Amino acid sequence: MTRELFMHSFIWLFGLGLIVVGARRIVRTTSRSRAERNTLKSILDASPVCLALIDSHAAVQYANPAYTELVSVPPDALIGRQPGVLLGCVHQHDNHGGCGKGAECRGCEIRRAITEALTSGTTSLGNETKLLTQRNGLEVLRYVRFSVQPVGDGSRQVVLALEDISTQKVVTIEPHASERHFHVVTDTAPVLLWTSDQPGKGIYFNKGWCSFTGRTHSELVGHGWTEVVHPDDLPGYLKKLDAAFEIRQPFTMEYRLRRYDGEYCWILDAGELRWLEDRTFGGFVVSSIDITESKRMEELLHKREQQLHHLAFYDVLTGLPNRLLFNDRFCQATAEAGRHKQNVGLMFLDLDNFKMVNDTLGHDTGDRLLCDVSARLRSCVRDYDTVARLGGDEFAIILPEIRSGEDMGTIARKILDAFTEPFPSSEKELFVSTSIGITCYPLDSSEMTELLKYADVAMYHAKAQGRSNFQFYSATLTAHVAERQALEDGLRKAVTRGELELFYQPKVKLPTGTLVGAEALLRWNHPERGLVLPETFIGIAEDTGLIVGIGKWMLRSACLTASEWNREAATPLKVAVNMSGRQFALNDIVGTVRDILEETACRPEWLEIEITERLFFNGNDDNLRILQALHEMGITLAIDDFGTGYSTLGNITRFPIDTLKIDRSFIHDIISNPDSADLVRAVISLAGSLRMGLVAEGVETLAQASYLNDFGCDLAQGYLFAKPMPRESFEEWMVDEAARKA
Ligand code: C2E
Ligand code: MG
Ligand code: MG
Repeated sequence: MTRELFMHSFIWLFGLGLIVVGARRIVRTTSRSRAERNTLKSILDASPVCLALIDSHAAVQYANPAYTELVSVPPDALIGRQPGVLLGCVHQHDNHGGCGKGAECRGCEIRRAITEALTSGTTSLGNETKLLTQRNGLEVLRYVRFSVQPVGDGSRQVVLALEDISTQKVVTIEPHASERHFHVVTDTAPVLLWTSDQPGKGIYFNKGWCSFTGRTHSELVGHGWTEVVHPDDLPGYLKKLDAAFEIRQPFTMEYRLRRYDGEYCWILDAGELRWLEDRTFGGFVVSSIDITESKRMEELLHKREQQLHHLAFYDVLTGLPNRLLFNDRFCQATAEAGRHKQNVGLMFLDLDNFKMVNDTLGHDTGDRLLCDVSARLRSCVRDYDTVARLGGDEFAIILPEIRSGEDMGTIARKILDAFTEPFPSSEKELFVSTSIGITCYPLDSSEMTELLKYADVAMYHAKAQGRSNFQFYSATLTAHVAERQALEDGLRKAVTRGELELFYQPKVKLPTGTLVGAEALLRWNHPERGLVLPETFIGIAEDTGLIVGIGKWMLRSACLTASEWNREAATPLKVAVNMSGRQFALNDIVGTVRDILEETACRPEWLEIEITERLFFNGNDDNLRILQALHEMGITLAIDDFGTGYSTLGNITRFPIDTLKIDRSFIHDIISNPDSADLVRAVISLAGSLRMGLVAEGVETLAQASYLNDFGCDLAQGYLFAKPMPRESFEEWMVDEAARKA
């Protein structure tokens, strides 16, 4: 035994002696005053030595706070229990649980000491013992030395005292021979090594590490090493260390480390668990490898790979996807469309007379033209469409998620329009046109090879039609798109040519049939087709934006009519006009309506605007503000075709709506279909409770009219009363009706 250890044991035993005297006093307190007992308990409670009093049945009577803190067991769980609880935390290397291993087993040793103290009053000073205790949810190793002393006076009680000697152990264990050996080996080996005993805290850096970073050991220990780690990589590294300590798992980390010459190098660290002599966790041993060179090679290879990929899949001249990538993308697009029941449009384009450009202006000009054409094609389509160069002057476009043939026609027209602009060239501006063939998956075929062939056929057909145009493979689509195009062209001129006209259909009161107003409905007197109904052309007018001009014209006509009818009338008629969502989005609609009312001397209360439920769903509150402004002017608002959209009660009450118009599809079978009848009754009661007006659309029979009247719907519109008619006919009808009623 060394001199220090001898002195230490002496002091410890002397201290313990004093404590046992105190403990004896506790025991005798039954006969002493409560005040004295409390004083002694306070002394023991405050003692830094861990003390427990054990009775003749080997049960714990008392344990002071130092004790409960050390063994991490609350007092409630100790008192009255066998001292086994006290020793529950003895490290498994030192505790064999009554295994009979004699002196090797500290558990047995303490139990034996307690028994001997109880039976023969022997005092024992035990060997060094390891405890595995809990601190903040982590297992912590503690070193203790125990002693057992009988309390005496025949009370057969013993004091078990534990002395925490962990701090002395750190001093004695750390510079242990094996640790020194480790340092000697690692300092001479050509490797970079360091150890860490806490997240972020380095304790040892070998010579390799010091010379690589050009720092001394004392500069690196603790958190010093973090100064040579690249600031962008440090937070990630510290996080990783934290996690590795938490879960005690080996780790690897790539990061940049500043070398002695100031250069940052790529380093790969591999951290292995470091076990102390006694097999407890002591942090990490981290080996560091300079991987800068392999990193550089990796980047180079990656770049080469990208270049090769680009060469394999992209056209060198234009940078567009080549035939290979085009095939791949087309496969993907059709597979995706197949899953989601969507269409994919495919266009084949061939430049008209490109050979002439090449022959007369040279190949350089031809190449430049191909690049300009590529850029222009790209600008005509959406980002997720693919424009590919298939070779020579042939291009292809994949249009995923396309809605209809009309959409493809629109895009093809856009491309043809874009080609009417000249292409810049070094000498003079060049004009070149293109012919486009179009097919559609799955309309024309679901086979890729077939679709490619069809697009090609359609493209040659376009060329045969005189170039600079497009053709669908399917004749019906071509006809459909051509028809739409013709209507669009005609509609552009319809307003100025005076071909548009408003028809009026009466709205009447039930059951009398008294006229209360009229709905203005648009008609197109087409020079060749005759009377065209709105369903044929309103969609085109909306898509092309023509609805804005048409809408203005229609509103002016309707307001003028209302103004002329009502100027001298005793009971004014309300004229209703239909307005589409597009009109709301594209124009200063409030200003326009105000101007037109003023211009035509139409009072706002003579006007009603019919909107559809779709207007509620544009995702912002613009429409709400417009409707509020119109409503504040004194114009009434009606929801048209009510029941076919998705209005919620919230929307209906949020918007300033005056009237609901029940869609004619419900009125049509109101007598025969109980569902329609239920819905109509529900709408009637909804309108009643929201104090809104109600109009039934499409009333064709007397039975429908009387049914509606019975359920409280008092306004109706439909062929039963009159079909929509030109203004003059309507005025004649009014006179006839008045005469009939009189
Ligand atoms: P809407 O506003 O629901 O107009 C009522 C439609 O029902 C009219 O068709 C009318 O002729 C028809 N109708 C009326 N009574 C009966 C009936 O008893 N039986 C049947 N089967 N039908 C009846 P129209 O005139 O073809 O108008 C269709 C739609 O076109 C209108 O539906 C409206 O949404 C739209 N529309 C008409 N004119 C305009 C306009 O000037 N601007 C806008 N944006 N849309 C308009
Ligand atoms: Mg309407
Ligand atoms: Mg309607």
